[in-house]
Amino acid sequence: MPGHGRARLRLATRLTAAGIGDARVIGVMTQVPRHLFVDEALATHAYDDAALPIGSGQTISQPYTVARMTEALLAPGCCSTVLEIGTGSGYQTAVLAALVRRVYSVERVAVLWQRAQARLRALQCRNVRLRHGDGALGWQEYAPFDGILITAAAHGVPRQLAAQLAPGGRMVLPLNGGDGQVLLRLTRTTVGFRHEVLEPVTFVPLLAGVA
Ligand code: SAH
Repeated sequence: MPGHGRARLRLATRLTAAGIGDARVIGVMTQVPRHLFVDEALATHAYDDAALPIGSGQTISQPYTVARMTEALLAPGCCSTVLEIGTGSGYQTAVLAALVRRVYSVERVAVLWQRAQARLRALQCRNVRLRHGDGALGWQEYAPFDGILITAAAHGVPRQLAAQLAPGGRMVLPLNGGDGQVLLRLTRTTVGFRHEVLEPVTFVPLLAGVA
């Protein structure tokens, strides 16, 4: 199979073995060409289950983590609109775009934002809107969102993001705690927020301002 096809299928097998149960997520991850989201020099490693450098001291998330976060975010029937904080390479954005109606994504590093924009355009991901800015502020213009995914670790749930979550909506984010980082899922209920700690994770930090 040409164009990394076999490597993608191996990745699907590994994700399933690692406990990813959502067939939609696995299906999309065998379709989205991860090798186009990393430097050509790293393309042969694109389907390894590893995080890889994307420049500016940042990384493209490990495929397992992308799969886990995506399945944790997508309740049955969810989501119409998703806000992603930390576009990075745009890979997670592309995975989400294949599963939901519309994806908004904010990146604080201008050069990463520009590269992601070019890649997603080339892949004809038309239901995606990207912005250069501080994601901790969310994207008020398009709020509320059914899902919010943060791909950098914060010390607490960013308040303005929680406020932009629709009733019944979910936020999935890595949080720094005493014993390292954990993946947290927050669900907006009629009375407040339900918290679920999912598993330990490793992410680059959520930083303030833009670069
Ligand atoms: N989803 C990305 C992960 C990139 S790593 C991928 O799979 O490629 C996390 C990204 O979050 C980095 O690109 C970093 O620059 C960005 N980031 C960190 N703090 C941010 C903030 N406050 N607002 C927006 N982006 C932020």
